[in-house]
Amino acid sequence: MKFFYSPYQLQPQDKSAPRSGALLKVVWNERKIGYADLHPWPELGDEPLAVQIEKLKQLKLTNLTEQCVWLASIDAKGRMEKRNLYDNQILLKNNAIITKLDNHTVELLDPVAKNGFSKVKIKVGVDPDEEIKLINRIAQTHTIKLRLDFNNRLLSYAAFEKFINALSVSAKFQIDYVEDPFPYNEEAWKKARELAPLAIDWGLEKIDLRQDQHPQADVLIIKPMRDDVDKRMAQALKWNMKATVTSHMGHPLGVMQCAQVAQDLHVKHPNVMLDPGCLTFDIYQPTEFHFHLNLQGPYIRKVAGWGIGFDVLLKGQKWLPL
Ligand code: MG
Repeated sequence: MKFFYSPYQLQPQDKSAPRSGALLKVVWNERKIGYADLHPWPELGDEPLAVQIEKLKQLKLTNLTEQCVWLASIDAKGRMEKRNLYDNQILLKNNAIITKLDNHTVELLDPVAKNGFSKVKIKVGVDPDEEIKLINRIAQTHTIKLRLDFNNRLLSYAAFEKFINALSVSAKFQIDYVEDPFPYNEEAWKKARELAPLAIDWGLEKIDLRQDQHPQADVLIIKPMRDDVDKRMAQALKWNMKATVTSHMGHPLGVMQCAQVAQDLHVKHPNVMLDPGCLTFDIYQPTEFHFHLNLQGPYIRKVAGWGIGFDVLLKGQKWLPL
């Protein structure tokens, strides 16, 4: 197995610092070649890109590069069989996403709702007082369901209780689930679940995968770019939980791979899987890859080419040997 990489930067629309990642080309042999997206989030605990690349050189896989190899192998299979992995017949309705809640993004919800979205995921926990006001305003003017993702930013159950209690009745009613409100703790999450349905993402790392007991959450988040998908799915089934696939908010190629995994899991487990959250392309300024996407409201359609698509662009990248 040989690796090649092509570093890239994505510029967030919200003008925050550019994000670094690398496309990976994995070559098993002349015929078996697949691609994936290595996009670490050092601020959330991943090792930085340079370290990931260095470890890959020594064939020490991290959870991210392990997933890259897995996704590249799926891609390679599609390319060898000359078929696109994505199925335009399976229409999954993705949630919209708001990474930063302010007056401007609240106004943007109007066109979003008109475009057919019925759920929006909002990243919260940065400025709770302001966010509460804005969420209440959203609930006054929209019927869209809310997925509130705190990324464990609140410190405790008490802070979460205060947040929820400050929401209007209609805002509370519109909550689809709350993701990672504060660091996982069985007792505290048990109480928090009485306030709103909870989804667990980062907290899952703290839970023994083999434990029989259902964790104190309602929905399990599956991120194909960092989690062993089969293991996570087995957990969801064992614990009788709902599950949803979300993207890693990285390069369009990697996001398309997440959307494809979402399709696959929806076909296999239609009663377990909830609407995915893979529509994270436009949090960045468009790149050449963005122009090849086929998006329609909450729906993602295939990108031309074999495997996950983008054949022409992938050929044109500058590939550095590891
Ligand atoms: Mg999350």
